Amino acid sequence: MRPRFFILALAFSAGLLACRKTETIQSPSSETSPEQTPVCYDCEYLRQAYADVEDHATQLGGHINNPYLIENMMQAYKNLKGQYPAQRFSSNYLYIEFRPADFQQLDQLEEKDVDLFDYPLDQKLLTEGDYFLQPGKSIEDIPSYYAVVPANFSFPAGIPYRVIDEMFIPGNDPELEIEALRITNNLDEDDEPAFSNNQLNKKRHDEDIADSYGHSSSATPSCRNFPSGQILVQNALLVDNNYRGVREVRVVVRRLFKVERLVTDAHGNFACNKYFHNKFTVLAKFKDKYARISRMRPWAIHEQFFPIKINFGRWKNLDCGHEFRIEHPAAAGTIATSHWCAAITQNGLIEHHEMCNELNIGTPPMGLTIMLSSEKGSGHGNTYMLNKMLHNNAAVNGAEVLLASVITILNPFAGAAAAVAAEAYKYRAPDIKYGYGDDLSYLTTDRYCELVYHELSHALHYNAVGNDWWIKLGMAENKNPGVGTYGECCTDKAPRIALAEGWAYYMGHLLADKKWGMSSTSFPEQGDFDTNRFMLEFSNTTGNSSHQNFLETYDPFKIDDPNHWIPKGLFYDLTDSGTEPLQSRVVDEVSGFQCKHLFTALHSGAADINEYKLALLRENHNYMRDQVINLFHQYGY
Ligand SMILES: [Zn+2]
Repeated sequence: MRPRFFILALAFSAGLLACRKTETIQSPSSETSPEQTPVCYDCEYLRQAYADVEDHATQLGGHINNPYLIENMMQAYKNLKGQYPAQRFSSNYLYIEFRPADFQQLDQLEEKDVDLFDYPLDQKLLTEGDYFLQPGKSIEDIPSYYAVVPANFSFPAGIPYRVIDEMFIPGNDPELEIEALRITNNLDEDDEPAFSNNQLNKKRHDEDIADSYGHSSSATPSCRNFPSGQILVQNALLVDNNYRGVREVRVVVRRLFKVERLVTDAHGNFACNKYFHNKFTVLAKFKDKYARISRMRPWAIHEQFFPIKINFGRWKNLDCGHEFRIEHPAAAGTIATSHWCAAITQNGLIEHHEMCNELNIGTPPMGLTIMLSSEKGSGHGNTYMLNKMLHNNAAVNGAEVLLASVITILNPFAGAAAAVAAEAYKYRAPDIKYGYGDDLSYLTTDRYCELVYHELSHALHYNAVGNDWWIKLGMAENKNPGVGTYGECCTDKAPRIALAEGWAYYMGHLLADKKWGMSSTSFPEQGDFDTNRFMLEFSNTTGNSSHQNFLETYDPFKIDDPNHWIPKGLFYDLTDSGTEPLQSRVVDEVSGFQCKHLFTALHSGAADINEYKLALLRENHNYMRDQVINLFHQYGY
């Protein structure tokens, strides 16, 4: 054990940095009393709920009186000061119920970027779950959404709403706020048993679980009331199971009607600068300027409009800089799996943008609609770009045809539900879909990143060539007959698919190598993914990562690989120099192209891999013409 003075000094200085609110910091007490120990009332419950494949409901207690009503705040002031304030408090926040009538309104409402709750805020929150079934509604109905908005909020036209309460919520006036909470019976100082749900039919282990969310140090009063922390995701790399920060993720802290929204920095840190009384809930939501990452929920399709949320628990005495950890999942397809995949995707979006900027090539569109699906294996991705196209007048007709052809893939529910789904997808369809089900072996950090980068590089291609090109690709991939991931090699559809996929495999593995290098894990490729036969294992070798080895040794002549006609090694062969490894069976005499040259030829709008070859030669003044033609020829083009 370390000397106590050291711990206190450290905790105090961390508090000053984290909370940005020096005037409210009180001196830490000289004793670590039990009242300062961080308590999470539902973390263990949530850990078990998230290990499940099923969603769990929000659990509410009894009705509460709103402490922030103007009259009540006036009374609290009078109790403290002996007289009412000279001027009446004016409302600065409104408690609202929104009642979107259809999916179009739901889309508009979600775009307004308010923190919406699907349960009423005037009931005691025991634990916030994945959904809440409102009285009189069934699971597929669009529910009411509750929110606290600023008094000057501009309400979206046409969406029905009602103002439930006008409130005065002080940002930082603990004395006044505590008195208002006291006279409405909302102080909630009592300790309560940890939340558990006897409907959650799981074995509870007897072992010590107190440290499961990383809390161990004592809380100073400042951090206790100004929540701060770090959102972290666990690595699954070759010899690295450490945690790294989740970047630019939205953090929502709520207690009663006080809702504070924050964004993590490059290390996953956030720090609240508003006062929160005890027992607040900390949520993370995967939405930023790059994308909204949601989870496919075909049986409750309105939920797909909202970003994936992680409840990090309802806390009292939160310690400074608490580590909120997203562990690597123990199984595929669970709620926890979707959390981990969302965090990898969240960071992957930012990494992809940064690396594309370094390479001097384009970037994907901003504001992507990304959906994660447990129906699909963790190695699966699709870049439909449907949401972008359906919201773009020029593309709507073709995009609707594409949507109709993939709707049974997106929503396997038949009958009336299918019609509801088709309507919902018109307003919110995936631009990109990633799987998180099936095979856990795909869920290493570098492999899932490779998938994320692959699909984002398709989106970058879309940004460069536009809607018509992409609709044709979507139809080609949907209709190409034959076995293998992409159908067979020699149809009229194959050359377009070959161009799009050749580029995306190159970018996915190139960027995975750039980001993870020798930390990368091994993976099987170049075989039959459907039957798991004829696979080759790609691993790190001296100085080369598994991803680099894959690109360098890709063998287009390996005909027991049904996808061998996808030129996964071609783009890399255009850029690399030195001797070609024997394993690839390719004679590669081309070198000197850079990624930006490859991208520029792509940007020309070449319809397929054959046109692309001509564009590349044309734009580079026939640089290494014969060698380039020979290289493409070996890949079948
Ligand atoms: Zn692809």
